[in-house]
Amino acid sequence: MSFKNITVAGSGVLGSQIVYQTAFKGFSVSVYDLNDEALEKAKERVTKLKERYKENLDASDQEVNDAFARMSFYSDLNKAVESADLVIEAVPEVVDIKTDFYKKLGEAAPEKTIFATNSSTFLPSQFADATGRPSKFIALHFANEIWKSNTAEVMRHEGTEESVFNALLEFSKQIGMVPLPIYKEQPGYILNSLLVPFLEAAQALLVKEVSDPETIDKTWMIATGAPRGPFAILDVVGVRTAYNISYGKGEATGDEKYKQLAAYLKENYVDKGKLGRESGEGFYKY
Ligand code: NAD
Repeated sequence: MSFKNITVAGSGVLGSQIVYQTAFKGFSVSVYDLNDEALEKAKERVTKLKERYKENLDASDQEVNDAFARMSFYSDLNKAVESADLVIEAVPEVVDIKTDFYKKLGEAAPEKTIFATNSSTFLPSQFADATGRPSKFIALHFANEIWKSNTAEVMRHEGTEESVFNALLEFSKQIGMVPLPIYKEQPGYILNSLLVPFLEAAQALLVKEVSDPETIDKTWMIATGAPRGPFAILDVVGVRTAYNISYGKGEATGDEKYKQLAAYLKENYVDKGKLGRESGEGFYKY
């Protein structure tokens, strides 16, 4: 099983990066989004990415323009998927939107087409039935700034065919990613299964006034040789995202620990506009 024509559905922050990276590596890419306005935004996003590829990857003008020339843009789902070997879905992280999209996609796409979701927090089994083709459905999870942070977490659900799993690992390699096989469904894949509890443990040390961010980071970095400690990582992730995660868990579980973390981040950071690297200050100043 090999892929030639790729459709990316949803051309927002991550979708546009998947589009660009896949086209940059030589594939034909159909971009699907809701309407012409969204597609115009997509064109702006991918045009901006040209500069990042030139800066970060030393790509030539010819290479970045060739990538753009391999893209076509559609707001008609039937046309967007008519020759697709693989559809990568990057529509918003909302269950109803994804479920509805997969129902329509299942009807519109040729029988051979494989579907992959880039969902960060849902499991592929949640949408497997809606696709109408569970054996050809899988998760393919990228990280933000895909051209630099080139992880591809390939996660199958119980009903995914072995050949589909292997084909996605191979495809990930072909588009310049490091393929990371995940054999069983796991919320948070590998990265967030490790990272989220680690970052929460660090925040708990701060909230309990055990120590300060610099000392906690220094301890981790010197002892393990890691280039960054948990608070420097949180500044990159964004303090608002960390707050949202803790707040959501507090609401869902009623667990005081998460409520305390959320309240602390809100009062000391979010409400003061200290949102991390993007705002110039978080746990550190930039
Ligand atoms: P986004 O909001 O930036 O983009 C979503 C895009 O989908 C928009 O262009 C929107 O117009 C379009 N859209 C909305 N409804 C649609 C529909 N029914 N059909 C087709 N397109 C539709 O979102 P994002 O940050 O790019 O996230 C998309 C997916 O990628 C989510 O599942 C998210 O979990 C995942 N993801 C995001 C990141 C990240 O850092 N942003 C990282 C990894 C994975």
